[in-house]
Formats: sequence, C-alpha cells, structure tokens
Amino acid sequence: MSKLIRSYINGQFVDSDKRFANTCPVDGTLVADVCEASRADVDNAVAAARAALSGPWGKISIAERAEWLYRLAAGIEKRFEDFVEAEVRDTGRPVKQARTLDVPRGIANFRFFADLIKTANTECFETTTADGARAINYTLRKPLGVVAAISPWNLPILLFSWKVAPALAMGNTVVAKPSEETPSSAALLAEVAHEIGLPAGVFNVVHGFGGNSTGEFMTRNPDIDAVTFTGESGTGSTIMKAVADGMKEVSFELGGKNAAIVFADADFEAAVSGVVRSSFTNSGQVCLCSERVYVHRSIFDRFVAAMKEKTEALVLGDPMDPATDIGPQISLEHQGKVLSYLQLAREEGATVITGGEKPHFGDARDNGSWVRPTIWTGLPANARCLREEVFGPVCHITPFDDEEEVVALANDCDYGLAASIWTQDVTRAHRVAGRMHTGIVWINTWFMRDLRTPFGGVRMSGIGREGGRHSMDFYSEITNICVKVA
Ligand code: NAD
Repeated sequence: MSKLIRSYINGQFVDSDKRFANTCPVDGTLVADVCEASRADVDNAVAAARAALSGPWGKISIAERAEWLYRLAAGIEKRFEDFVEAEVRDTGRPVKQARTLDVPRGIANFRFFADLIKTANTECFETTTADGARAINYTLRKPLGVVAAISPWNLPILLFSWKVAPALAMGNTVVAKPSEETPSSAALLAEVAHEIGLPAGVFNVVHGFGGNSTGEFMTRNPDIDAVTFTGESGTGSTIMKAVADGMKEVSFELGGKNAAIVFADADFEAAVSGVVRSSFTNSGQVCLCSERVYVHRSIFDRFVAAMKEKTEALVLGDPMDPATDIGPQISLEHQGKVLSYLQLAREEGATVITGGEKPHFGDARDNGSWVRPTIWTGLPANARCLREEVFGPVCHITPFDDEEEVVALANDCDYGLAASIWTQDVTRAHRVAGRMHTGIVWINTWFMRDLRTPFGGVRMSGIGREGGRHSMDFYSEITNICVKVA
C-alpha cells in the first residue's frame, strides 16, 4: 500500500476524499497519494492560524519563539535521512545534493532566523524640530498576522523553510503549501512540528494544486495578511491580481534567465567548472541557473570545447548513487516543456554542442523524465530560447568582443534575478557587477549564499527581498513610535 500524505490543520492531520498521485520522476513509480485540501480545509487552516495569534503563541517572548525554531531545526536533524529520502524520491535529485544542500539548508534556515531575532535591533532617532521640541523615535516590529506561504518544487525543503522560518520567527502564524510535485518534505516538517508540540494552528500545511485549487483558495481567502510566493513569474502575476482588492503584502521570488559572463582574463579552469555548475546543478532547475553564457571571443572556441568535455562527463544515474551528478526533470510535463525548447532551438538555428535530446537507458528510467544536459551556440539575441526561461539543463554560449557589448547583452532581458562574472581584473569585476540589472551578482563564484544578505530579483524576477533583516522587514508590520521628550 502506498503512503498517504495528509494536510496538517490546527494541529491535526486531515484526510480528504480528493486525492492525487505523487510520482517519482526517476521512473514514474508512485511515491504517495496526497490529500488535496479543499476550500473548506484552507478556510479552517486560516481560521486556526488567526486564532493561534491570540493564543499563547501571540504572547511568548522573542527568546521563546527562537527556542521553537531551534526545536524545529533539531527535529529535522533527528530525521535527517527521512528528509533526504523524501527529497530524493519526490525530485530524483542526486542524494549527495540532498545531503549537502537541501536538508542542511532546511535546518540552517530555522537556526539562522532564531539567532537573528535574538540579536536584532531596530532603528532609533533623536529628533529636534524647528520650534525646539524634542522627541525619540523608535521602530517596533509586530507580526503581520496570518502568512500564506506558497513554494515551488525545485528546492522543496530549502525554499519552504526559507519562508516558514522567518514568518514564525517574526511571530506570525503560517498556512503553507508546498508544490503538488513535492509534498513529502513539507509533510515531514508538519510531523516534526507535531512531534515537538508546536501550539495548534501556528503552522499549517495544506496540499494541493494552484489555480482553482488549494493555492488559489489560500490567496483568495480574505483573512490572510500576506502572501510569500516563489514560483513562475506568470503565477506571481495571477496571485497579485487575486490579492489586489484586499491589498495584501506580497513577497515574490520569481523566474530568471540569468547571464554568466566570462572575460578573457578569467581563471579558465575555474570559469569552466563554475559555468558547468551554474548551468546544470539540479538538472538546470534552479532559478539562479545560467541559461545565457557570454564568453570573450578570444577564448570562445576553447571554452566551448572545455564545457562540452566537462558536461559530457556528468553522470546521469540512480539518484541514490553518490557518483550521480544529474537527475531527471521534475515531471513528464516539465520534461515535455524542456524537450519543446530543444526542438525550438533547432528551428531557431542553434548548433547543438552536446545533448539536445532525452537519454535512453534501456531500463525503467525510460519511464522517467530525463533530459541530457545541453549546450547550444549560434542563436541570435532575439531567439525565444535566449529570452524565455526554460528551467532545464540548457545553456547557450554567445561570443562577445568588449565590455560595453556584453553588459548590454546581459541586461537585455525581461528577468533580472542573478548574474555571475568571471574575471581576475578586480576593477572590472566591481565595475561590471554594479551595472548588472539583477538583484544578485556573483564574482568568480555562483550560488554562494550568506543568509544575512538580500535575496531577490528585479523586473519579472520578483518583488521585494528576503534574507537577514530584509526577511524581518517583510514578515513584520513596522510601526514608528514617536515619544515627545519634555
Ligand atoms: P509555479 O508557479 O508553477 O508553482 C509554484 C507554486 O505556486 C506551487 O505550489 C503551485 O501549486 C502554486 N500555484 C500555481 N498556480 C497558483 C495560483 N493560481 N494561485 C496560487 N498558487 C498557485 O512554479 P514551479 O513550476 O513550481 O517552479 C518553477 C519556477 O519557480 C521557475 O520559474 C523558477 O525560476 C521559479 N523559482 C524562483 C526562485 C527565486 O527565488 N526567484 C526560486 C525557485 C524557483
């Protein structure tokens, strides 16, 4: 009998008649049946979250709240291998990635925000007006209230906890929905919350789809106070419309079509390895992945050849094998989308340097949703494959001649999440970094995160920043208090 995943509402695991299948993208086998939360379930979760705000949760000290976050972190740590298995089964990601990135970051997110709230300060100003009156102005952070958190499938526990942890840290209550593709790790987090005795209603998990299902029921519920969402830009736009009348606060982490720029003076080996990593980590399913690579013409041919060699050495295989580098795409539907871009690239005139097809294993994996890592060259700047987010294991390499040209090419994009720059010229590195229209720029590295720093994008890549005090700002209502000093 397969596993049953239920929603977690007001401290209870809640069944539902309406269920959907959660399958493993490695070979299409069933992982679990998942209960789809109805509108009534979502309304109950929001009502429980609202009620919990005026229960003990609303009265505890910052230090006590931090303790709850430490307990959640310890609870994940205690069931580390369960979380690893959940991530690997739901996504087919290599186990080495789940062990070193996804689950450790899930733990770190709770510890980090617990540490942060214990040491955070707020602003204070001494004020003098023209008539000689004096005042002290200080800032108070209060919870927003009930936060609806909606997350995607590509980094399930990492992104789910990146929302839940700061929301709870700031004293909110949460109704959270993981992607329908990856319900398992969120379901485990609900079990952890239950095991440690987190007060009922503080953290609720509802499972289901987006439009006309659980996600939309959340965003259309008038009693939520804010929506934190990570996912596609188009979904962000739909959610924005859903919450517009109620004027809810939103934090949106959306899509990307990120550029990597390699100058002629880059450390060649480091740049090749770095760009292979930034293009194909998690099978290209990271919002930060570089789908557009710009390489100085003087090293272009050598760079393309070296990328091809390194990419072809990546191991596509059993995710539980520690040697595996590349897993499948998240679903057959997503594989279909990526394959349609592989076809489109040919029609748009691309040269396929490597990949460009799905692999054939001759075993059960042929029922899975695999795509070979693909490198293209030769597309014109206006090709759809160079402008639209594919979100798969693909990158296009374009030659450039000078800095002005590459800055213009990199910025000619509807998205603006992240850029990476590879050069040993320190002055150029800072100069070009400052000219990128993106929320994040990495120099001689990629996806290196310090949780204190702002994370987010410009243009179609999002609204707002999360991370460190930026998360504290979003997840709290900031009140200015002005005290006249006699
Ligand atoms: P998606 O937008 O399809 O779904 C994300 C979540 O939103 C899911 O839980 C889904 O059920 C829910 N949803 C869908 N429609 C909804 C609606 N109408 N109302 C409420 N909820 C709805 O995205 P995805 O395919 O799961 O994730 C991939 C996308 O996420 C890519 O575009 C990627 O770039 C982006 N992403 C961005 C970041 C970032 O930090 N900027 C991080 C990871 C992923």
